Amino acid sequence: MKRTAIVVGAGLVGLGVAAELMRDGWQVTVLEQGPADGVGTSHGNAGMLVPSHFVPLATMGFLKTGLRMMLKRGAPVTVRWRPDADLLGWVTRFTLSSLAGDEQARTQALLRLSLASRDQWERWADDFSHLARPGGQGLMMIARTAHGLEEEAEVGHQGARLGLHVEILDAEGVRRRQPGLDVQCEGGVWFGNDAHVAPHEWVQAMRSALGSNLVSDTKVLGWQLSGDRWTGVKTNHGAMSADHVVLASGFESARMARSLGVNMAIQPGRGYGYTLPGGARLTTPSLLVEDRVSLTPMGEALRVTSGMEIGATHQAPDPARVAHIRAGAERVFPSLASADWDQPLWTGWRPLSADGLPYIGRVPNLGNAWVATGHGMMGISLAAGTGRILADLMGGHWPSLDPEPFRLDR
Ligand SMILES: Cc1cc2nc3c(=O)[nH]c(=O)nc-3n(C[C@H](O)[C@H](O)[C@H](O)COP(=O)(O)OP(=O)(O)OC[C@H]3O[C@@H](n4cnc5c(N)ncnc54)[C@H](O)[C@@H]3O)c2cc1C
Repeated sequence: MKRTAIVVGAGLVGLGVAAELMRDGWQVTVLEQGPADGVGTSHGNAGMLVPSHFVPLATMGFLKTGLRMMLKRGAPVTVRWRPDADLLGWVTRFTLSSLAGDEQARTQALLRLSLASRDQWERWADDFSHLARPGGQGLMMIARTAHGLEEEAEVGHQGARLGLHVEILDAEGVRRRQPGLDVQCEGGVWFGNDAHVAPHEWVQAMRSALGSNLVSDTKVLGWQLSGDRWTGVKTNHGAMSADHVVLASGFESARMARSLGVNMAIQPGRGYGYTLPGGARLTTPSLLVEDRVSLTPMGEALRVTSGMEIGATHQAPDPARVAHIRAGAERVFPSLASADWDQPLWTGWRPLSADGLPYIGRVPNLGNAWVATGHGMMGISLAAGTGRILADLMGGHWPSLDPEPFRLDR
């Protein structure tokens, strides 16, 4: 008889876990509180698969840059303070992680997961052959100041030492990879292992592949437990059960995991984006180093995203931060001034863990409850590898990639 699992959350991480479990012969039901065709965090993001982002968020470097940025109005990175013990606890744990001196170990863990996930994405592309394969043009980090280029080149050199394909370029070199475009910059760093996808197409295709095993408009409200076993979920449509459960509810996972006895430090990192029709003259996906604006060609369109408001839930968007997206993009790509920016603003919430690593593993003290979340700004990149690790663990096999750095009680 097939083993059964309920996955809570139909973002790309939950869908990735479901896909890998089904590959191994499980019968999976995915519960999603939103509509089947919703436009959540996994839809409107920049879609970059980024082994280049091997430095975890919680580091001394980010602490310094983040603090510097926060002093500027409309800066891309900020903390939206509210009187909330969870937010205060997260900031404390983030600061302690940044100072902990284990950056190298977390970097190695993140890079290994990222590269394994990049490979697994190619397998997904074989499975979903009607979708475009991950675009192989790499990622261009574009700096418009000498200081920005110097800092990014340092990351590039570190990446090269870790075995990544990296090229440090002057302004002409950057323009050669964006033919036909005026690029106002000092130079850039090109990461050749990176790729990109249209995430909304993947989410919809993976949801469609589930057929009636995707149960939308169904919110998980609580858990049924008996001793050291999870026995069921309580939803707004009644109770449901399976052999195992996987919590993959993005930034909302920490609150939900608490009643399973798990204390994860996760805060939402809210960001914004526009998808510009006909703006796809960009050849290579790019991230603007100083302004933290990313630009990804998606079919005939160009997706432009930015912003990291830590702790922001459903407050009104900050107009200065929203304006920064367009201003930042046009500063480096002046031709975008004539793009059609009159598009709906998209908003998404990155599930940010306090130490910059995702949580992937079994709930301590419960034999059949699992978690996959906290992927921060890399949930699309890491979803495929995460699904594979969790499917292996749930099947009783030790994954080829060491899951220890991602365990819940680290
Ligand atoms: C501006 C921006 C740009 C980004 N760019 C990139 C990028 O280029 N590359 C990259 O790798 N990542 C990127 N990310 C990050 C990426 O989008 C996230 O890490 C990823 O989408 C998280 O996926 P998830 O499945 O964990 O969460 P989500 O996509 O949030 O999915 C969780 C799902 O769980 C559901 N849910 C929650 N609670 C319940 C409940 N109680 N019952 C039932 N369902 C529930 C939610 O409705 C949701 O659909 C970006 C994010 C932002 C905001």
